[in-house]
Amino acid sequence: MGQKKCPHCQEWSSWNQNIEDICEHCGEKLSHLELARNQKREEERKANEEKWMFYIQKSDPPFVVFLKKMGNLFYTVFMAIMTFIIWLIAALPG
Ligand SMILES: [Zn+2]
Repeated sequence: MGQKKCPHCQEWSSWNQNIEDICEHCGEKLSHLELARNQKREEERKANEEKWMFYIQKSDPPFVVFLKKMGNLFYTVFMAIMTFIIWLIAALPG
């Protein structure tokens, strides 16, 4: 148990070192720094996904989702085959 100064209302609130703890005074999250860091990590993960494959958005119509899923599947299979071929070339002597 401890106390933390709320980043939103500047009041001191009790907290349990938990990033999900909420300010007693204004109800906002106490650890916005940690939360922001988590959010950033999450965004980076998402950005990676978007870089790698066809990213499925909630607004996509069903046939686009289907095409993207097929694309992702082919991409995954293609990458597996490529990895295998590269490994084969590397493993072959001379
Ligand atoms: Zn507060």
